[in-house]
Amino acid sequence: MILAANWKLHFGPKETHNYLKEFLQLASQVTEDVQFIFFPPALCLPQTAEILKTTKIKWGAQNTFFEDEGAFTGETSPKEVAHLGASYGLVGHSERRHFFKESNEWVIQKFHALIRHNLTPILCVGETLEQRNHGQTLQVIQEQIQFLSNKLPPFLIAYEPVWAIGTGQVATPEQAQEVHQSIKSFLKEKGISDIPVLYGGSVKSANAPALFSQKDVDGFLVGGASLKPQSFFDIYQSVKDML
Ligand code: PEP
Repeated sequence: MILAANWKLHFGPKETHNYLKEFLQLASQVTEDVQFIFFPPALCLPQTAEILKTTKIKWGAQNTFFEDEGAFTGETSPKEVAHLGASYGLVGHSERRHFFKESNEWVIQKFHALIRHNLTPILCVGETLEQRNHGQTLQVIQEQIQFLSNKLPPFLIAYEPVWAIGTGQVATPEQAQEVHQSIKSFLKEKGISDIPVLYGGSVKSANAPALFSQKDVDGFLVGGASLKPQSFFDIYQSVKDML
């Protein structure tokens, strides 16, 4: 399974150091098949690279631009993130789409920039509450993943209903399963298989087992509950017997 932590705009280098040291202690006995991935803020990536370089834990950037360099004030270069030793990049997170007005076109360009640098994209998709209430969930998600093709190297998808992110309102296991299954069958029609689909949106140890019991839920992307090493590790503990 895959357990990814999105720290969003929390922590500086010092907190990153303390967190990761504590997490490494917690995870030192883990033998089950789990891939932990951390997405710290950009300023903490060098620290993260240093601490995790001799471990099996992977990390990536929450956001990278689609150009490698140039007159793009405030952006983060995918090329430099790759040079630091990252393995992954988040792309299309709903906070990027909504607060920063990132269009699907930008998401696609950023996705391809990650691929260009051998970084594995985790493409975040999801519907708003309004779209769900209008019965548009599957259509919205299909539009967000329409550009994917079977010529691409491996990538992951994170299904994150916008109404569930940071709200404490988690999708039911059935709602998650319906969307995950539809993503996988949509990809299969395009000749793409074996793509892990993570669920994200108010995941914690109390709700993780029911979600993970669904056939097409392959792991989690976790925001709030990843901000403490113990509560993030508890999510793993809560599902480890199912691995
Ligand atoms: C996220 O930021 O991707 C997320 C799922 O956040 P939370 O777990 O806090 O809902």
